Amino acid sequence: MSPLSNLAVRDIETVLHPYTNLDKHRQTGPLVLERGKGIYVYDSTGKQYIEGMAGLWCTSLGYGNEELVEAAAEQMRRISFTHLFAGKSHDPAIELAEKLKAIAPNDASKVFFVSSGSEANDTQVKMIWYINNALGRPNKKKIISRHRGYHGVTIASASLTGLPANHADFDLPLPGILHTDAPHPYRSRQDGESDADLATRLADSLEAMILREGPETVAAFIAEPVMGAGGVIIPPATYYEKVQAVLARYDILYIDDEVICGFGRLGTMFGAEAFGIRPNSVSVAKALSSAYQPIGAVIVDEGMYQAMVEESRKIGTFGHGYTYSGHPVAAAVACKTLDIYERDNILGQVNRVSPTFLKRLTALGDHPLVGEARGMGLIGALEIVADKATRRSFDPKSAVAAKIAALAEEEGLIVRAAFGDIVALCPPLIISEDEIGEMFDRLTRALDRAEAWVSGQSLR
Ligand code: PMP
Repeated sequence: MSPLSNLAVRDIETVLHPYTNLDKHRQTGPLVLERGKGIYVYDSTGKQYIEGMAGLWCTSLGYGNEELVEAAAEQMRRISFTHLFAGKSHDPAIELAEKLKAIAPNDASKVFFVSSGSEANDTQVKMIWYINNALGRPNKKKIISRHRGYHGVTIASASLTGLPANHADFDLPLPGILHTDAPHPYRSRQDGESDADLATRLADSLEAMILREGPETVAAFIAEPVMGAGGVIIPPATYYEKVQAVLARYDILYIDDEVICGFGRLGTMFGAEAFGIRPNSVSVAKALSSAYQPIGAVIVDEGMYQAMVEESRKIGTFGHGYTYSGHPVAAAVACKTLDIYERDNILGQVNRVSPTFLKRLTALGDHPLVGEARGMGLIGALEIVADKATRRSFDPKSAVAAKIAALAEEEGLIVRAAFGDIVALCPPLIISEDEIGEMFDRLTRALDRAEAWVSGQSLR
């Protein structure tokens, strides 16, 4: 291993890294990225990488977008900070709320601003509790999420998240937050089961959970249209139709987490549109500003809003909000981002290049390490297996997907190892067909090297 650079040594001395094996990091040190342009980022030695994960599923317009830089600078010059508390407002927040209301996949009434996906989903939980108190049903508070779902890391949103590492040793999930099965055809389809049968089984299991808990205690269901961090899991056809029928029977609200799927990732403005989801409330973040600024939002329908008005009348205020709820610089950048999506027809761009993306992706299904290659729009994943016929996984300790991600990095491509030995891909939406070709060439080289490593170490 090459000696650690001065920056790497300083990092190890000072930075406590999120989502990192803290012990291993002391030996390996960081990859220090310094600049970016388009879909490319460059490390401190000048090496170029394709950002195959758009950062953390977020930099949709890629790097170095001068219009977004200018939108931030202009707002900072005008008024760098003002807030939305106690009835104050500012034009970037008003404009952004109008834009979101116009495109949201629910019957949008009002927009509450936050700075991240975790804050959005924490706010969803608090709103659900608040609303059910307002409606005089204080026992209807439970929220059903799904195993492998990802909704953030604050205490309530980490509870919604259905991944072991977010619960173990954090004393989570909170009571009243439940997890139903993930709609994961590759891993959960039973012999001969059709998509429709699998969807029915999953909806039945959700209904059984609701009946077990008591429908009068269950307030809401939360889901990402396509699960992202849990492994890019695409539900079987008819799943959402059947789930929504169950929720409707028991007066359970639908919270749609569009933090990854929102703003074109699946080829529709929101994932909800791709699956016929009619949510009550929507969480957005990430691509809302193409990650040029930390900003997110909760978009509620009229019913939720009216209940909140009632309750705040009784209490005297809606006692929730962050200093940076609707930060004017972030809001100005988000407005510009949405303008660019519209002007440059980002949906047209995604739908133009995604057939190439999906063709190259699914071709990797033939690779000896890949059990399934799946994708939709411009998001995809490889399910890494030891045995393609039986779908047997490698020993998790071998961390084969992490090895593939490390080799991809050597080949000049950033991908992410997701839970369950899965390699995820989620490039900036502006990627061209040639760049898609280059991305998959690099990934293929990494997979071939990983296969040689697996054989050399006799990991099968
Ligand atoms: N929801 C989803 C679907 C996400 O993918 C994420 C982040 N990966 C979050 C919520 C949490 O967002 P943040 O990391 O901005 O708190």
